[in-house]
Amino acid sequence: MDYEGFFKQRVDALRAEGRYRVFADLERRNGRFPRAYDHRTGQEITVWCSNDYLGMGQSAVVQAAMHDAIDRVGAGAGGTRNISGTNHEHVLLERELADLHGKDAALIFTSGYVANDAALSTLAAHMPSCIVYSDALNHASMIEGIRHSRAEKHIFRHSDPADLERLLAAADPARPKLVCFESVYSMDGDIAPIAELCDVAERYGAMTYLDEVHAVGLYGPRGGGVAERDGLMDRLTVIQGTLAKAFGIMGGYIAASAGLVDFVRSYAPGFIFTSSLPPVLAAGAVAGIRHLKTSTVERERHQERAATVKSRLTAAGLPVMPSESHIVPVLVGDARACKHASDELLERHRIYVQPINYPTVPRGTERLRLTPTPLHSDADIDHLVAALTDVWTRLMVRRVA
Ligand SMILES: *Cc1c(COP(=O)(O)O)cnc(C)c1O
Repeated sequence: MDYEGFFKQRVDALRAEGRYRVFADLERRNGRFPRAYDHRTGQEITVWCSNDYLGMGQSAVVQAAMHDAIDRVGAGAGGTRNISGTNHEHVLLERELADLHGKDAALIFTSGYVANDAALSTLAAHMPSCIVYSDALNHASMIEGIRHSRAEKHIFRHSDPADLERLLAAADPARPKLVCFESVYSMDGDIAPIAELCDVAERYGAMTYLDEVHAVGLYGPRGGGVAERDGLMDRLTVIQGTLAKAFGIMGGYIAASAGLVDFVRSYAPGFIFTSSLPPVLAAGAVAGIRHLKTSTVERERHQERAATVKSRLTAAGLPVMPSESHIVPVLVGDARACKHASDELLERHRIYVQPINYPTVPRGTERLRLTPTPLHSDADIDHLVAALTDVWTRLMVRRVA
């Protein structure tokens, strides 16, 4: 086999479809977020697609905790959690997360992706003849975790409790069941009917697993997510989250009963056989989570900015897709046009929005996904509206009347 020829041909196929991925080469500017320097175009740009939703990556509180930790304990963790790598910062972080979600215990992983893959694969593989019910729009990390468990899996229609009930009712009542879904779906910005899905799961004795990656830090009086906002945290068996989006650092976790967490801790290869997070990151996460448990100004300003961007773009006649959350998707509907629009925004207007194409979203729904933060100013929003209007006119992509 011509190995190199194979790789090139597969990548060329992506190019032909207009969905070859080109990474922006950014240098973030501490204290100036959402500004960054783009090494590819050699200019300062405004980032409009960051998942550092609150700008916590440049929080003084978080950075002070990280400086303090690196001075005290140095760079790395020193091992896996089992062999010399459990630092006190990890213990404190797990306590902080358990408290955030009102659970007995929490367990941290090297990322939110790893948390989903490791926790779901371990739970569903070990419970004898477990059946998994997965929302049709679940994130790749959940899909992979379920796949790796090799358990029987059924996909229910997106955010549809009646469809979930239809599937659960058809199954043997004695078999263990696990229902997996997200709170905020990050490409459309819609929010799951968590209470209704829990009602159905409870009726059929199923466990529930909620990915709150796009909600922790952002919703609820203490930043515990949509389940906290809606008073539902105790109804979920497992709440999963990330430290890399609203908390601005890196790492993932689950929060659940002491027994479930002890089980995953003891059986998940993706937790056991990998070195733990540097304690510096854990210390920064603790500081950020504690800060956001009491400070609500970031969350309030975040929601206000998102609402303002949505209404301004809609008023300008741009095709903003309906969204119940802080995510602002703008429909393009074609992979090449989407990439082209993104390139034009960067080159002509110094605005950076990554195009979102298949397979992240279905073909024909390619979009620009904007994530306003508390640090985007009124002037930034004015600039964004003018730039998008210019690019839409120039490209004559689909436009709402
Ligand atoms: C980003 C994301 C993850 C993975 O979290 P990381 O900490 O970035 O690995 C998991 N679930 C959803 C829904 C995500 O969008």
